[in-house]
Amino acid sequence: MRCRLCEAPTCYRWSLRLLGCHDVKYFECRSCGSLQTEAPYWLTKAYSIGGAGFDTGAVQRSINLALSMHAILDLIGFDKRLPCLDFGAGAGLYARMMRDRGYNYWASDPYNSIYFMDRFTDDRTRWSLISAFEVAEHMPNPRCNWAELFAKEPDLLFFTTDLYRGHGADWPYLSTETGQHVFFYTEQALMSLGSARGYHLAAVDAVRVFSRSVLPDLSSAEIWRRAMELFAEHQRDPFRHAVIDLESLKSAKSDT
Ligand SMILES: [Zn+2]
Repeated sequence: MRCRLCEAPTCYRWSLRLLGCHDVKYFECRSCGSLQTEAPYWLTKAYSIGGAGFDTGAVQRSINLALSMHAILDLIGFDKRLPCLDFGAGAGLYARMMRDRGYNYWASDPYNSIYFMDRFTDDRTRWSLISAFEVAEHMPNPRCNWAELFAKEPDLLFFTTDLYRGHGADWPYLSTETGQHVFFYTEQALMSLGSARGYHLAAVDAVRVFSRSVLPDLSSAEIWRRAMELFAEHQRDPFRHAVIDLESLKSAKSDT
C-alpha cells in the first residue's frame, strides 16, 4: 500500500477491530513515517452516530480553543475583520464563540449540520485564516484534503492532531471505538507538507500552525495570561456581537 500523504511505500504494522466489526490493517510509511489505516471504507457507518458519541471532551475543547485562539490572534496582531473559516466545525461551537469575540468567522463541515453556525456558512474560495481542529486525523485522503485547504490560500492554517511517535496498537488516539481516526502524522510529515508550499510550521500552546511568515515565539503562560484578561473583558458585554449578528441576519431577511 502507498502512503495516502506522500505516496511512498508503506509497511504493515498491525490489525485492529474498528467499530466492533471491521478488522482493519494499519501501515507505516517508509518515507514520512506516518501511520495510517488501510483505505477507509467504513466511514459512512463511523459518522452515522447522530451525536457527539464518544467525544465527551468536545465542549471543553471548544472553550479552551476559543480562549487560547483569541489570545494568540490578539498577541500576533491579527485583524479581526479578515475572513476566517473553521473547517470541520462540528456543531460550530468554537466558531460561534469566535464570532462572539468579534472575529469574522465562518464554518463548514462535510459531516455535520453546524448547528450553532448554520447561518454563517460561505463558499468563498480564499480565506485569511483557516482552523481545522481535530480534523487532520479524520482525513480519508490527506494528500487531496490538505491540498484543498492550502488552495484556499490562508496566511494562517491552525490545526490540532496528536502526533505519531512510534506508538503501539494500544495507543488510545487510534480511537478504534469510533472508527473516525484514519491517519496519524509524524512531525516530519507535517513539516514536509508545509515546506512544499512555502509555509512555516510552529507549535503555539496546544495548537500547531502553518504560517506564511515566521510568528513570534509565544509561551503558554503568556497566552493564558492574555486569554484570562480577554475573557474578563469579553464577559463585561458578552452578547454584544451576538446582537450585531442577529440584527444583520434580520436585515438581510427583510431585504429578500
Ligand atoms: Zn508518507
